[in-house]
Amino acid sequence: MAKELLKRPALPPSPGSILGGRVAQAEMRAANMGLLLRHLRGHGGRSRAQLASETGLSKATTSSLIADLAARGLVREGELVRGGSVGRPGQTVTLDGANVTGIGLELSVDYAALTAVTLAGTVVRESVVPLDVAHLALDVVFDRAAAYLTRAVDSLQEAGAHVVGITVAPPGIIDYDTGTLRFAPNLGWRGVPLVAELSERLGPEAPPIRLENDAKLAAVAEFDRVAPQGIRDLLYLSGEVGIGAGIVADGRLVRGYSGFSGEVGHLPLDPTLTPCNCGRRGCWETIVGLAAFLRLAADPGDSMHDPKRALEDRLLTLADRALAGDERTLGALATVTERLALGLGILVDVLNPKMIVLGGYYAFFGEFILPPVQAALAERRLDEGSAIVLATSELGLISTARGGALLALEDVFTDPTVVAGGD
Ligand SMILES: [Zn+2]
Repeated sequence: MAKELLKRPALPPSPGSILGGRVAQAEMRAANMGLLLRHLRGHGGRSRAQLASETGLSKATTSSLIADLAARGLVREGELVRGGSVGRPGQTVTLDGANVTGIGLELSVDYAALTAVTLAGTVVRESVVPLDVAHLALDVVFDRAAAYLTRAVDSLQEAGAHVVGITVAPPGIIDYDTGTLRFAPNLGWRGVPLVAELSERLGPEAPPIRLENDAKLAAVAEFDRVAPQGIRDLLYLSGEVGIGAGIVADGRLVRGYSGFSGEVGHLPLDPTLTPCNCGRRGCWETIVGLAAFLRLAADPGDSMHDPKRALEDRLLTLADRALAGDERTLGALATVTERLALGLGILVDVLNPKMIVLGGYYAFFGEFILPPVQAALAERRLDEGSAIVLATSELGLISTARGGALLALEDVFTDPTVVAGGD
């Protein structure tokens, strides 16, 4: 993942204790190991001497820390490189972590998606299964999600992987301190202690579990893809029944004071004041969300509304209709696009993103949605230098789970000692 995403604020000074000095020293060592790992992630493989001069650590400290990271399987040393015109050639240190894995699990309205990614960035598990999360009893959802996770953790561990953490993503607002889902309007869930329920089912040996919002994680996954192009400010917009945004500003995921950032689907942009699942009226998602689009695109008896038909299949059919010039479908897309541009214009003024990625159902209709939205944003532009890169997501249903796996791995970049050494 791109460097510095999710970087935490500096730790407060350690409280005085009988072990204070040694604890502080161990913390410093772990922090410097994290610094080296993040440097390798951001800049690619380089020699110990280069690492020392670029991070400001002494050569002796760097060598000791690299040896420690190598013992944990997080870096490896390869071929000889010449660091400069003088001096002995050194070995290239590169990021490894092929056996260090993070897991992301998305619980969406009607499916669950799971991804496992290694520290080296390789996707080693990826699957999407139908799961009627919105209508099943809570206990049944917990049981099935726990079974899904257990199978993944067991199979990865049998293959020799160290699973450092699991991120579970529900479509709602998270209480980070208690691991509780505060409110998911489109599931009808309130105050659900997801981490406690899943931890109990997975048992005490399981990797640590955390929660993060679905749109925020999709933004993490999209940002990971484009950060190498130098993009630091990205807005991701999920296009499902609910509309949520994930915001990355100057390379960092924005959560807000209490995790509500990005709840843009509830901006009051519908003048007809349609009731919304959140309890308010006139929310943006009631006019640009999936339900609104399907209503505009097809009559009630049309199979486009049949929940027994896979959503992807229905959206592909509608895309075919649009390509064939079907006026009803094109009209629906034009209406949604105009309303989409209205809200995006506001978000651009507030956030000034370099890139906007449209996910969910929008990704099926890129050629119809992107050009008019781009034109509408260009028309409103305040200065010539602020052109926005507009794109649809290429990760599809897996983007949130992928972001969850990347977030779980972020712990290793903060404190590499969470992975045990080989000796
Ligand atoms: Zn609402």
